[in-house]
Amino acid sequence: MRVADVLSRIDEGELIALTRDLVRIPSVVRAGQPGATEAAVAAHVERWLRAEGFEVEVHEVAPDRPNVLGVLGDGAGGPTLLLEGHTDVVTEGDAALWTHAPFGGDFVDGKIYGRGSADMKSGLAAAMVAAAAIKRAGVPLGGRLVVGALVDEEGDMLGARHLCTTALGRALTAAIICEPEQNELCLEQRGVVWARVTVRGRMAHGAMPEAGVNPIAALGALLAEAPALERRLRRLCARSPHLRPPTVTPTIVQAPVQGVAQSNVIPSMAQATLDVRLTPGPDAEAITKEIDAACQRAMEAAPGATVEWQPVNGFRLATRVDKGEPLVRAMVKGVRQATGRAPRFGGVPGSTDGTILRTTLGIPIVTCGPGHRLIPHQVDEHVEVRELVDAARIYVATTLNFLRA
Ligand SMILES: [Zn+2]
Repeated sequence: MRVADVLSRIDEGELIALTRDLVRIPSVVRAGQPGATEAAVAAHVERWLRAEGFEVEVHEVAPDRPNVLGVLGDGAGGPTLLLEGHTDVVTEGDAALWTHAPFGGDFVDGKIYGRGSADMKSGLAAAMVAAAAIKRAGVPLGGRLVVGALVDEEGDMLGARHLCTTALGRALTAAIICEPEQNELCLEQRGVVWARVTVRGRMAHGAMPEAGVNPIAALGALLAEAPALERRLRRLCARSPHLRPPTVTPTIVQAPVQGVAQSNVIPSMAQATLDVRLTPGPDAEAITKEIDAACQRAMEAAPGATVEWQPVNGFRLATRVDKGEPLVRAMVKGVRQATGRAPRFGGVPGSTDGTILRTTLGIPIVTCGPGHRLIPHQVDEHVEVRELVDAARIYVATTLNFLRA
């Protein structure tokens, strides 16, 4: 069967309806609120995949937080390709600021609105409908296709981390991350390290600073070091036409860390978080060395204080995949078959579940999905149906190229 025959089975109405259904099931994870997890939307995905006749695995990552994986074909021979999406969405914020209800799934002028419409229930719907089109067409696959709906991408990426520990995860050969990237082929993703810096001094009276060691002075010195750290990281990291260069951005500053803030008390401790964004190149050790050096300089500037740092949730290094990878070649051809246009290449400004899959399993990943790159987490988030349909078609053509029987 020709790729065009399967592409003709992609139904716009079905894609719109499924995306709207997924958006209408809220899946903001609200700690401490029972039921405020991905469970309901995961259950919807599971029911849908089972109704289509997929083999389905449900992995309980945390209470009421399941990964759902639909499998097509057997793993006896050939590669295993994952179409990956996440089921959680970020908060809607102040609902009064939205023109379209955040969980209404409004469909107006070729756009679907709502929290998660772009990031990334539309991408997930495109993956599901693409896999179903292949299954309904009865095309034999030279390998296995997995549609994965994972939890907690917006948090600690527990779903992706869990998948890497399962038999199905370890069997993966390659993955398409269906995040909103305007259907560009993103072979690179920026990395991130959240460096939580802790400064310890000695508590004293504000009128007698000579009796203590003020950690805030060292913290100030560290913040003053941030631009120099950024310059050093820029020298260390590779330049990329698709990624902004590394940045070092202080995002949290806190003193005192414990107890009551009082105008006449020098606190014993101060903390700051640096949001460090990276491009491909250096490993964790090289980055550690540079952040260590910044802390050392801050310490020298404020005698008596100790300055230490820890990565919050570890290192998410920048990722890159070679253009010669079979997955990339399958996608380049797939974009042409699906859209009649040459592919556009891009880069992911942040990290995704793909970061975990790439760095843990070592498999090639390409991030490509419907939705404007800048729209995630905004008020009146939306996705264009035109891009949604293109994405499903790209996934079909790529899958058939990559898993050719
Ligand atoms: Zn996302």
